[in-house]
Amino acid sequence: MRFDELGLAPELLKAVAEQGYENPTPIQAEAIPLVIQGKDLKACAQTGTGKTAAFTLPLLQRLLHHSSPSASPARHPVRALILAPTRELAIQVHENLTGYAKHTHFRTLCVYGGTDIKPQIAALRTGIEFLVATPGRFLDLVEQKAVSLHAVEALVLDEADRMLDMGFIPDVQRIINLLPKTRQGLLFSATFSTEIQKLADTMLRNPVMVEV
Ligand code: AMP
Repeated sequence: MRFDELGLAPELLKAVAEQGYENPTPIQAEAIPLVIQGKDLKACAQTGTGKTAAFTLPLLQRLLHHSSPSASPARHPVRALILAPTRELAIQVHENLTGYAKHTHFRTLCVYGGTDIKPQIAALRTGIEFLVATPGRFLDLVEQKAVSLHAVEALVLDEADRMLDMGFIPDVQRIINLLPKTRQGLLFSATFSTEIQKLADTMLRNPVMVEV
């Protein structure tokens, strides 16, 4: 399987080539076409498998060819929300995302707690389409009305098992309840305990299970 067989646009293939990737990893080969089709995903994958590209690349692809009906041209509401359990992971996901998005028009931002919220609020005001966030800080920003959720088309939960270990599931559940009902959901976890399975049931619609 080659990257150019997965249904990705030239601007994304160019970015992938610039990263020096030659071939998709197994999770990428499996997940990318499914996500481009609009499927919900329940993916069992460890760090180091290339899982970040497995969700960021196809979401970039989908949103490239899917103009947001509710977005006025002057504003750029959040269209994809990626939740990560820690600041370090959020930063890492965002670094990958900026690399893959560099030849697109999308604006991306990473927000996390333990740091001044004001610059994050100011950055959100400029119009951000891809937001990477830790759950607590995201809810703080929602409370401060710094982010509107009406145009969110995709939610990614990265490392759901670590979110559970860190006690973030109630926050995640609150976030899920705030989002539009018709949106794509992608859940990544290294393990699928009963709790993660329950979370998947509330978050996903007819998900395809992907395992590597
Ligand atoms: P992840 O599992 O998403 O944390 O990715 C692990 C590492 O693999 C990251 O440093 C990526 O830049 C790298 N990577 C992701 N996809 C590929 C690929 N198709 N070929 C080579 N390296 C990759």
